[in-house]
Amino acid sequence: MVERVYLAKPRGFCAGVVMAINAVERAAAELKGEGDLVVYHSIVHNDVVVERLRRRHGVHIVEDLSEIAELEKKHKLARTIVFSAHGIPPSVREEVLRMGWGYVDATCPLVTKVHSEARLYADRGYTVLLIGDSADHQEVRGTLGEAPESTILVAVHTHVGSDPRLADPRTVTVPDPEKVAVFTQTTLSVDDTDRTIEILKRRFPKLVQPSRSDLCYATKNRQDQVKLIAPHVDLFLVLTSSYSSNGMRLFEIASSLTQARRIDTAADLREEWFADARSVGITSAASTPEDLVQDVLAYLRRLNPELEVIEEGEWEQIRFREPRRVGPPLERS
Ligand code: SF4
Repeated sequence: MVERVYLAKPRGFCAGVVMAINAVERAAAELKGEGDLVVYHSIVHNDVVVERLRRRHGVHIVEDLSEIAELEKKHKLARTIVFSAHGIPPSVREEVLRMGWGYVDATCPLVTKVHSEARLYADRGYTVLLIGDSADHQEVRGTLGEAPESTILVAVHTHVGSDPRLADPRTVTVPDPEKVAVFTQTTLSVDDTDRTIEILKRRFPKLVQPSRSDLCYATKNRQDQVKLIAPHVDLFLVLTSSYSSNGMRLFEIASSLTQARRIDTAADLREEWFADARSVGITSAASTPEDLVQDVLAYLRRLNPELEVIEEGEWEQIRFREPRRVGPPLERS
């Protein structure tokens, strides 16, 4: 029977996710009457969040601007699109303006910083090596779009071979080995990223790493907590959608240290998991709402009303400013 729960702190929403969700809610409220809001890509990588925004605010999610024409046949749209926290290639922004639409850019500022630096180094004639875990991840697509001719996608070393579009860090070649800069997706495993950069540094001794790390504070803090808690628990529950990069890295790290289960919500829990588990760790991805964590706690309290909950650590105090609409004014009727 579960006697003790270690709740990771920090866990759940990061500043980028809070900003992005607020941006959608504010834009939907302000544009009410003009029509429905369109969001480019899942605003954050969590199904529950996306579903709530759809239900409460009637937003439409598109993966490609070409889907808008079909949507317009069925719905009145507010001619405004919100870009997700993961960022977009500049070509998407240009296309939106060409369409005569406006946009609200909810790209996390920490992703924007990587975009700006990648573009800067590409403009200086460097080859940009972008380390990621999937060529399909929206953040990777966005950063790649800043300087596609100068950028080579490189697999974080644990993902070598998982996607032929990601080069192997041990064999990747560049036009000028003296001019190479490295950037990373913001949500990778800290340890795997360090290993990958070490491999690249051995191959390209003049490798430039403009920032100490592109991995964001939220990624690092959540991973640190998992590493701290995992040795003390029989089972680690990681609340994350399966397509959340930062959430899946938490699950991988927890799995490497103890038994771990990934769940979307408390509805996924099975009583038999807890038969031999006296202590349980719980964490949640940067896009997982806190009420889902509280549902899991409530479930465990039903199994054992005397449950001890240990929650140490500090909440983060970082906040990002909300973006405003950019583009042609709406012709209000
Ligand atoms: S996980 Fe990090 S980079 Fe991604 S939105 Fe949150 S703060 Fe920004």
